[in-house]
Formats: sequence, structure tokens, C-alpha cells
Amino acid sequence: NRRITLASRPHGAPTQENFNYEEAQIPTPKEGEVLLRTVFLSLDPYMRGRMSDAKSYAEPVAIGEAMVGGTVSRVEASNNPKFAKGDWVLAMSGWQDYSVSDGTGLLKLDNNLPNPSYSLGVLGMPGLTAYMGLMDIGQPKAGETVVVAAATGAVGSLVGQIAKLQGCRVIGIAGGAEKCSYATETLGFDACLDHRKDDLAEQLAQACPSGIDVYFENVGGKVFDAVMPLLNSSARVPLCGLISQYNATELPSGPDRMSMLMATLLIKRVKMQGFIVFDDYGHRYNEFSEAMLPWLTAGKIKYKEHLVEGMDNAVEAFIGLLEGKNFGKLVVRLGPD
Ligand code: NDP
Repeated sequence: NRRITLASRPHGAPTQENFNYEEAQIPTPKEGEVLLRTVFLSLDPYMRGRMSDAKSYAEPVAIGEAMVGGTVSRVEASNNPKFAKGDWVLAMSGWQDYSVSDGTGLLKLDNNLPNPSYSLGVLGMPGLTAYMGLMDIGQPKAGETVVVAAATGAVGSLVGQIAKLQGCRVIGIAGGAEKCSYATETLGFDACLDHRKDDLAEQLAQACPSGIDVYFENVGGKVFDAVMPLLNSSARVPLCGLISQYNATELPSGPDRMSMLMATLLIKRVKMQGFIVFDDYGHRYNEFSEAMLPWLTAGKIKYKEHLVEGMDNAVEAFIGLLEGKNFGKLVVRLGPD
């Protein structure tokens, strides 16, 4: 039973030294429990937050504990009547091959799913995040301009495509030419701009001649600086993530833009609202899946997975996620189906 535990808390970007590779016993399920074998492990930006003991909406991972993570797992043995050996389940087994569960929080998946790992992406947490953040907080209307950052990632790629299905004009912001052409050619966005270019603010102003009605915030930092002056009256800003700041060790150097931000919110009556997907929208999963499944099946939503093979590559892939090295939803395959 290989597992990756948290060895130390990072200062700035995580490094290999912050993680420990361990071998543990395969646990034995007690009465009422199941033994799970991880097949797919989801890697997500929130894990950077769990490595830190700064106050947050969730408890940090303790030093020496296995890293947290959503998994698609196989039931290997069951002492729980609700699960049978061989079932696929959505679990939170973390970065390890085996774990036991008493069934709490386990979601049984259809055993005939063509792509079980999609339950970690387009049909799972990132999908729910994109759909609810955009539809409930962003409230896009046909003809409006929607801007989304981290535009080819797990959440952003879906936000932009859902906004297109609502009849909006969609501008993506992503890192590099390859991601940008994927956003326009495959995802169908109207334009996509490279946030690494020095003239991002000018390019964004040109791409949004009627201003921005919805900005789906995934990154913060320089990208938000470019967006803020273009927000229209009554614009909505679903505040989903601030990945450009997750490795930051200090506040950005001046000038302080807080008063500019507050004046923008006030004068333009901008609604900016943060959300934590499972806390705020976990109970609306069915509503989301009733919309997403038909779109996906009909090919109206395209989905790209960045699949990494083997636990040995998990840490490097996670470090890369915080630097934009992933192209699509990052998933690690830990073992055979
Ligand atoms: P992605 O698949 O989008 O991967 C992360 C991407 O972020 C990278 O590929 C990179 O894209 C971009 N990025 C990384 N560093 C920077 C940087 N310094 N500046 C700008 N962009 C950067 O991840 P997810 O779709 O899983 O997550 C997207 C956001 O949504 C994150 O902020 C995450 O925390 C948040 N989130 C929030 C949830 C909630 O409940 N509020 C739930 C799920 C996700 P590129 O190369 O294009 O720059």
C-alpha cells in the first residue's frame, strides 16, 4: 500500500521535500466497512491550501498524514451491504493505494460508466463548481460578455462552454499560445488571450469592446487587474479561486488597489461573491448533472483530461498544476481498472 504523506508545510511553492513516499499495510475492513483500491486520484489546486495551517474553510492535512484527495476507487472487499466487491465508487481516499471506509461520503457510481474518471472532473466537483458559480452567481444572459481565467483548466473550460450555450460572447484567458488556440478552436470561445503577455490589459480591452458583464475569477493577481477597469455596471463576479496567489508568501507590492476595487464595486454596483462548492452547492448536484450529462453526451461540451501515470509522478504533477503545466483536468492513474 503505497502512500504519499505530508512531510512538512511549504513556504512558497511546494517542493518534493514537502512530501514523503511510504509503504503501509493494506488495511483490513471491519464490520460495516469496505476496502477501497484507488484507481484514479484527482489533483486539485485546493490541496495547496490543505498543506498550509493558515486558517481556512477546511482543516489542514496533519504532518505525517496522507494527502487528501478525491478518488475513483474500486471496492476490493465489502462488509457493508450497500457495496459489493467490484463496485466503482467516488471517494476521498487521498494519495494512497488502499483505504477503508464505513461508507460515509462514498458515492456509488454506475458500474458501466464509459469513463469513470470523469466523475472527478466534468461530472464531478469541478463541473459542479463551473456550473453553479456561473449560473447561480454569474447569471449570464444571451449577448453578454463573459470572461474566464484558467480558461482551459478543469473549471474554466466548462465555464466558458456553458456560457457559450447560454448565448454569451466568451473571452478566455490562459497561459500560452497552445492553450489559447485550444480554447478558440476546440472549446468554441470567441477569443482567448495569453496572460503572460505584457499587454494583456490592452488586448483584453480590445477583445471586450462592450465591457465585461460576467468575470469568472479563478486566478486573481495581474489578470484581475486587467479585468477590473472593464467591468460593466451590474457586472457579476463569481469568486471561485485565486490560484496566482496560492504560493505567495507576502502581499503583492504596491500600489494598494483596495480603494479602487471598492469604488468599482460601489459605482458600478458590481456583485462579487465567493463560494465553496460543496458547502454552498453540494445539495444541488442533481440539478447540475441533469444539465451536464446531456450536453456531454451530445458533444456540446468538450472535456480534456490530463492523465498522469503512476503515484511516483503525482507530486511533480501537483507542483506543475500551480505553474500552469497541466493542460486539462489533472488526474493520476494509480492502478489498473
Ligand atoms: P485548472 O485545471 O484550471 O489548473 C490550474 C490552472 O491555473 C493552471 O493550468 C494555470 O492555467 C492556472 N494558473 C496557475 N498559476 C497561475 C498564475 N500564477 N496565474 C494565472 N494562472 C495560473 O484548475 P481547476 O480548474 O481545478 O481550478 C481553477 C480554480 O478554481 C482554482 O483557483 C481553484 O482553486 C478554484 N476552485 C474553486 C472551487 C470552489 O469551491 N471555490 C472548487 C474548485 C476549484 P494557465 O496555464 O492557463 O495559466
